[in-house]
Amino acid sequence: MNLKTISILGATGSIGCSTIAIIREINKKPNSDVKYELKAITANNNVDDLIKIAIEFKPEFVAIADEEKYSELKSALSPHGIKCGAGKGALLEAASIQSDMVMAAIVGFAGLMPTIKAVERGATILLANKECLVSAGDYFMQKAAQNAATILPVDSEHNAIFQVLNKKNVEKLILTASGGPFYNSTPEVIQNATPEQACKHPNWSMGQKISVDSATMMNKGLELIEACHLFKMPATKIDILIHPQSIVHSMVCYEDGSVLAQMGTPDMRIPISYCMAYPERINISTPRLSLADAPDLQFLKPDTQKFPALRIARDAAEQGGLASTLLNAANEVAVESFLNRKIKFFEIAAIVEDVLNSKFNFSSIDRADDYELIIDCDDAARRKALEFVAMRQMETGVVR
Ligand code: NAD
Ligand code: MG
Repeated sequence: MNLKTISILGATGSIGCSTIAIIREINKKPNSDVKYELKAITANNNVDDLIKIAIEFKPEFVAIADEEKYSELKSALSPHGIKCGAGKGALLEAASIQSDMVMAAIVGFAGLMPTIKAVERGATILLANKECLVSAGDYFMQKAAQNAATILPVDSEHNAIFQVLNKKNVEKLILTASGGPFYNSTPEVIQNATPEQACKHPNWSMGQKISVDSATMMNKGLELIEACHLFKMPATKIDILIHPQSIVHSMVCYEDGSVLAQMGTPDMRIPISYCMAYPERINISTPRLSLADAPDLQFLKPDTQKFPALRIARDAAEQGGLASTLLNAANEVAVESFLNRKIKFFEIAAIVEDVLNSKFNFSSIDRADDYELIIDCDDAARRKALEFVAMRQMETGVVR
C-alpha cells in the first residue's frame, strides 16, 4: 500500500472540503492501494471547522491566519497533542511541514506566499489558487522550475487541458466557460445584480469570490492568464467558448485538425482526485456522466459587450508584465466591495479597468518576476482600487 502525505492550505473552503471528502472516502476503502495522511492544514478565521478537521485527521500542524482565534484553536487542539499557530508566519510554517503534496486552495493573493513556501521545498503543488499565477505567474513558474516543484492544475479547465495535452503540435487551447448566472440576463438585470444572485452559480458550488468572478466572467479572464503560464502559450492562442452545460471542461486543438476534450460531470472532486493520484487515477464516488441523459451540449461565442471583464483581462494578458498583477489586485478589492454592497455589480469590471488605466510609479511595469515589485504593484493597485470605490460611492451615495 502506498501512503501519500498531503497538506491543505485553505482546508475549510470549498476546494479544501472537497479534498478532505476524497481523503475520507479513499482512506475508508479496505482494498485501496493508496492512502492519504494529512500533515498540515490552514484556514483564515473559520476556527470551528478547522478544529473539527484537525481532531478528525490529527495533522502535525494547524495554522489559522486570524490571530484572534489562536487561543480558541490552541485550547481545542492541545488535549489532542496537535501543534498549532496563528498569523502569516504560521501559514508559512504549515506550508513548510514536510509532505509529498500541497493543495493550494487559499483564495486570492493571500495564497501566494504560503504556496511559494511549499514550492521552495520542491513539493508537488495541487494548484487551485489561480490568483497566484495571475498576479505573479512569471515569478511563480520560475520558482517552481528552480526548485523542481511539480505544478498540477486543479482548476477544472486547466486540469482538462492537462489531461489531454501532448505538448507537441498544439495549435490552440479552448477554455470553456459556463457563462455564469447572468449569461442570458438582460443588461438591466446585470446592472442591478445583488451579491446573493451573483453567488448562485448554475452548475458549480464554490466560494464567494470565485462565484462573483464567474458572474462577471472575470474568472475566465483570470483562467486565460493562468493557462498562459501553466502551458506556456500566448493569450492569442487561447480561445474562450461558452458552454452552459459545463460537461466539456476544455479542449486542445492540434495542428492536424484534431480536437481533444475532457468531459465529466461538474464536480471538483474529479480534477482534485486526478491531481491527488497523478499519474494514476483513483476510484471515487462522483456522479458519472451519462451523455444520453445529459442536456444538449451547446457552444457559443462569448459576449464581451455584456461581460467587459473578458476583454479587460485579455488586454492585460497580452500586455504582459505587471498588468495582470494590477488586474488581480483591483479585481479582489472590487469583488469584496461588491460583496459588502459598496459598489454595484457592473462597477466591478469598471473599477478594474480604471485601475489598469491609471498611472503608477513602478521602476518597471514590464517585469513580473521580481517579488518586491509584485508586492509593491499589488499594494498600489489595491489602494487605487479603494480610491475608485470611494469615488463611486460618493457619486451615487450608495448604501444598499
Ligand atoms: P473559499 O472561499 O471557499 O475558501 C478559501 C479558503 O482560503 C478558506 O479555507 C479560507 O479560510 C482561506 N482563506 C481565505 N482568505 C485567507 C487569507 N487572507 N489568509 C489565509 N487563508 C485564507 O474558496 P474556494 O472556492 O475553495 O477557492 C479557493 C481557490 O481555488 C480560489 O483561488 C479559487 O479561484 C480556486 N478555485 C476554486 C474552484 C471551486 O470550485 N471552488 C474551482 C477552481 C478554482
Ligand atoms: Mg475553472
